[in-house]
Amino acid sequence: MDRRNFIKTSSFGLTAAAVAGSGVVSLSSCCGKSAPVKKDVSLNISFQEGIAPGESLNEKFDYMEELGVVGFEPGGRDLAKRVQEIQDALKGRNIKVSAICAGFDGFILAEDPAEKTAFDTTMREIIAAAGQLGSTGVIMVPAFNGQLPCKPHTRETREFLVDELAKLGEYALKCGTTVILEPLNREECHYLRLVSDAAAICRDVNCEGVKCMGDFWHMKEETSDYAAFIAAGTKYLQHVHMASRGNRCMPGEDGDKDNYVDGFRALKEIGYDKYVSFECGCKGEREISVPAAVELIRSQWEQA
Ligand code: MG
Repeated sequence: MDRRNFIKTSSFGLTAAAVAGSGVVSLSSCCGKSAPVKKDVSLNISFQEGIAPGESLNEKFDYMEELGVVGFEPGGRDLAKRVQEIQDALKGRNIKVSAICAGFDGFILAEDPAEKTAFDTTMREIIAAAGQLGSTGVIMVPAFNGQLPCKPHTRETREFLVDELAKLGEYALKCGTTVILEPLNREECHYLRLVSDAAAICRDVNCEGVKCMGDFWHMKEETSDYAAFIAAGTKYLQHVHMASRGNRCMPGEDGDKDNYVDGFRALKEIGYDKYVSFECGCKGEREISVPAAVELIRSQWEQA
């Protein structure tokens, strides 16, 4: 180990010990009954494109407005070609673009330079379109398990990721939007699984254009939904995905498993003002399951 790395490691050790020592107090104060609960925080519900019944965007948006859904999360693929279509369909409505879900080619941790270039090019095209649409950001995963060859899970790779995200975040800021890191469960992405880890990457990138999110489906990796969202806070938390917690269907379709109250309590306490967006399948009749899911999460938000 060279001197620079020794000092970095040693000071990290001291910092970690200091945090561990003080953590007992701060965590207990977060979880105590006296913690401030912001009951007046509004729940901004968003749908991905496949959630609402309807053939056209206009039919879907009519349905969403009836339900009081205020956000729309399109996929990022070919987004630049859809900017006008989406802007036209949203004109005069009480619905805004929430986030953009991925849609790029390649991946940021690719070993193959052609894959990395494909990512850089297509991701920037999507970011530019996201800015035109007023999106809160573009969701990305550093590498799915199946994306190979991938840079190894080492300290050097993390440093590489932080450097690359800094460049991407600066570009996103110029476009008026952000990039949003999404942690997934270990079956899909062992590299980034926890909301707090994504938030720590954002902290190290230190650019307002790099944010993170939590997906209640993938958050089965977390020991606590509450702690996960508190760790990210409003400084880094930019988006939330919803699904049932057994089979990734409509919230409520997995019965008692579909409890979001602990996570919602954290969102209310931090004053989360972005979107809670449906990304899920549907077991039952969409016309019945979708309104029931909206009602369920509204009642759990009230309870939180
Ligand atoms: Mg998701």
